[in-house]
Amino acid sequence: MPVSAVIYSHTHGDHWGGVRGILTDEDMRSGRVEIIAPRDFMDFTIAENVYAGNAMNRRLFYQYGLLLPVGPHGFVTQGLGHRVPAGASGLIAPTRFVSKPIEEFDVDGVRMIFQNTPNTEAPREMNTYLPDMKALWMAENVIASLHNIYTLRGAAVRDPLNWSKYIGEALYRFGQEAEVMFAAHHWPRWGNARIQEVLRAQRDFYANMNNQVLHYANQGVTINQIHNVYRVPTTLQQEWHCRGYHGSPEHNARGVIQRFLGFWDCNPATLVPLSPEDSAPLYVEMMGGSERILDKASELHAAGDYLRATEILNKLVQAEPDNQAAKDALADAFEQLGYQQENPGLRNSFLAAAYELRSGIPQGPVASSASPEVIRGMSTELFLNFLGIRMDSRRAEGLSFTMNLSTPDTGETFIVELRNATLTNIAGFTAPNPDFALTLNRSDLEQVMVGAETLEAMIGDGRAQVEGDIGVLGALADLMVDFDPRFEIMPGTHPDRSTVVESPDFEATVGAVIPE
Ligand SMILES: [Zn+2]
Repeated sequence: MPVSAVIYSHTHGDHWGGVRGILTDEDMRSGRVEIIAPRDFMDFTIAENVYAGNAMNRRLFYQYGLLLPVGPHGFVTQGLGHRVPAGASGLIAPTRFVSKPIEEFDVDGVRMIFQNTPNTEAPREMNTYLPDMKALWMAENVIASLHNIYTLRGAAVRDPLNWSKYIGEALYRFGQEAEVMFAAHHWPRWGNARIQEVLRAQRDFYANMNNQVLHYANQGVTINQIHNVYRVPTTLQQEWHCRGYHGSPEHNARGVIQRFLGFWDCNPATLVPLSPEDSAPLYVEMMGGSERILDKASELHAAGDYLRATEILNKLVQAEPDNQAAKDALADAFEQLGYQQENPGLRNSFLAAAYELRSGIPQGPVASSASPEVIRGMSTELFLNFLGIRMDSRRAEGLSFTMNLSTPDTGETFIVELRNATLTNIAGFTAPNPDFALTLNRSDLEQVMVGAETLEAMIGDGRAQVEGDIGVLGALADLMVDFDPRFEIMPGTHPDRSTVVESPDFEATVGAVIPE
């Protein structure tokens, strides 16, 4: 059966990264296959994972337990999906965008009504209703679990009230007559009564999280307390699809406060606090040293009071990163906390920290964080923005230039300036007196972006043209840092200071398509 169209429901990689498995280059060249996506799809697809991408990749090892052995005491699941697939993502740009809030058109003879739902589960997402079949596709806005308001790998906090409202709109726009509802990651729901029941409960779940958390925040409950205060309403707790199998009520509740009030609990003692490694030695000294802490932790552990054991052991590990007995005791407590979680992200995070405390951070080859197709999907502005992040600002003091960059094949121009140890760019402008100007096609710039060719080679054979002295670009290139995802999260786990065991290598996992 030939594929006649592809619909990208939203911007997360597990919903477009496999497109090359169903479309060939020939399909695309022929122009037969339409690829339909919500408006601004490409910008948001790439942007969400670029600026803080390396930190997110590192945090994936916690949320998804990527290094844990599979088994009852290790990795069991990651909530929405079962395992991260290896291999590069494919990305074929959409050929048609759904721009209005609601749009109706035929796709290969099938009538479809699209509902844009921006800033819900993803920055850009859309539901689709097939009225002649009474079939409702809820994208990833409704799954068989609580989703993430805050995702532990790190991302901007999602808007649960907005999310709830779009589910409510789907309930009244399509859900009054739909006979089958299908959605990402999980199974379909059959029959209108059941569809309405699920949509209502999911609508209320996200609204409740928003409203109840803010209800308490308005009475002084802080981001450091809300997870112990927020409670899912009993009627929702009794619905299987309202359990925290993907997002937990605890970390989501904290996320809602983060969205509205930010990280600070308003106690000046936590406003610009000491770094953990700087405050911990004072605690350890006042608590009477390592032996006393280990004794007390062992007593707490034996009593099943694991959270309080981590409270004091974490101080000891922060103060004494080379104390393997302390790291092992903290790992013991983390493991017990991990086993107690219903939510896989919490479980995996506790178990991943325990793993690294015992074994150190595994080394091995690291793959680049994005496939060539994903890099080609980056706008030139996004690429330049990211260069500003990669640049080591402290070593850029004293360097300065103004460059005009133009890419004739896309008709774009940029001013790129290095001033005050800061690299900035502005699209659509040309500086009157630049230090130099660089002209090359965006298609050639991509070869530089993916690391396939150097700028010098392009200047050498005339694909890039230069006016003025670009000597400073060499100095700029030297300031660019390649981020490495093997940085330390728990103290004393870097290979320089711990016993690193042989373990699954990092390569297959970094930059892979994660279930979102
Ligand atoms: Zn997904």
